[in-house]
Amino acid sequence: MPHTKSRQAQKSKDKTSPYSPCSHEELYQEACQVIPGGVNSPVRACQAVGAVPRFVKRGLGSRIYDENGVEYIDLVCSWGPLIFGHRPPSVAKAVSAALDFGSTFGAPTIAETTLAKLICRHMPSVEMVRLVSSGTEAAMSAIRLARGATNRDRIIKFNGCYHGHADSLLVAAGSGLATFSLPGSLGVPKALANLTITCPYNDPESLTEIFRQIGHEVAAVIVEPIAGNMGVVPPKPGFLETAQNLCREYGALLIFDEVITGFRVGLGGAQGFYGLKPDLTVLGKVIGGGLPLAAFGGRRDLMELLAPLGGVYQAGTLSGNPLAVAAGIATIERLEEEKGLYGRLDFMSSRLAEGLTELAKTKGLPSCVNRVGSMSTLFFTEGPVYDFDSASRSDTWLYGAWYRAMLKEGVWLPPSQFETMFVSAGFLFDEIDIILDRAENALATL
Ligand SMILES: *Cc1c(COP(=O)(O)O)cnc(C)c1O
Repeated sequence: MPHTKSRQAQKSKDKTSPYSPCSHEELYQEACQVIPGGVNSPVRACQAVGAVPRFVKRGLGSRIYDENGVEYIDLVCSWGPLIFGHRPPSVAKAVSAALDFGSTFGAPTIAETTLAKLICRHMPSVEMVRLVSSGTEAAMSAIRLARGATNRDRIIKFNGCYHGHADSLLVAAGSGLATFSLPGSLGVPKALANLTITCPYNDPESLTEIFRQIGHEVAAVIVEPIAGNMGVVPPKPGFLETAQNLCREYGALLIFDEVITGFRVGLGGAQGFYGLKPDLTVLGKVIGGGLPLAAFGGRRDLMELLAPLGGVYQAGTLSGNPLAVAAGIATIERLEEEKGLYGRLDFMSSRLAEGLTELAKTKGLPSCVNRVGSMSTLFFTEGPVYDFDSASRSDTWLYGAWYRAMLKEGVWLPPSQFETMFVSAGFLFDEIDIILDRAENALATL
């Protein structure tokens, strides 16, 4: 049995080493015995890039270290949450201090009010907020609230946007789905899927047409104001404004899914960035500071429809968990304190994007880099990439080769073409130069 073998191997090895003596292949085989596909979230299996997933031991600042002690510069940042990199001291201290008092009570704590106030302060459209544990849960709850508030059943989402894996929202290509090219998922009732209409991203004409046909049955439009789950795709000028106007005209609610963009592109999220006012907002990732925490919030009259005040039910045993809330507060407070932070992230990210564009061009590869602030994607297509179809023209085989070559060079990229690279404040001043040097080496092997 692989398990026994690894135990023995561990014993016979240097006892002071925290790392595993097993190869990633062995660790993966062992995981696959008891975890479907060896992973607890499908893209982690690295199938799209033809690699064996690396098992991670630890992280510090901009770096992560795998179970064999190999170091990588991390451009995934746990898919977005780690805006300060790994184990920023203020967040680590806050979590450990919270743990000294107990990990969960299932009763209100003052810290939850503090975090809710912080969120409301930075996002003026969010007058009240409820804390949950994952982005999926937050998006699902926002949809239920929108349906309850409007007494309508239909929702509109955009092809290529991902809002977690709740039934109503898993009807078209998204994060993992775009990668696996599945039409949806088994187990999603047709009757429910039929209530969701999918529209191309950045296509105000199609959206207007959908509204003309069924606008009065639409409870909500849910959108990633800057898409990050088909790779980075910024909104074209006027696209989000059209969605906002149509919603107001037809009495539907506009939901911004800011799970990635909230506190990532600025303290006010994408809505602050573009000066828009959605009815409801979904948050996650950065607001949890690396712990399981998400939220949904918005107009007071809508949020007051939630139980126990109103008839829209929503609940959670670990909602507002003290450890996660402590991490969230520490994260937002540090984001507030470090004045030049977003400018620094933007500067590093733009140097990375420009450098990669230059290298790919020199090598004669089809490429197009999309970027907003610290979010970017190198698409292996001539571009432009402005929606799911144009993103899908990317050479995913080339991306896989690029991923594997960069991994060998010690750079940890998203294991799919249709994901986002994040730079973090944990990056050292010369980190981008190091990445670009390694990228040059990696591209030379393609
Ligand atoms: C990650 C993500 C989600 C889902 O969040 P989980 O915490 O993984 O459930 C929802 N929406 C967007 C835009 C995301 O990027």
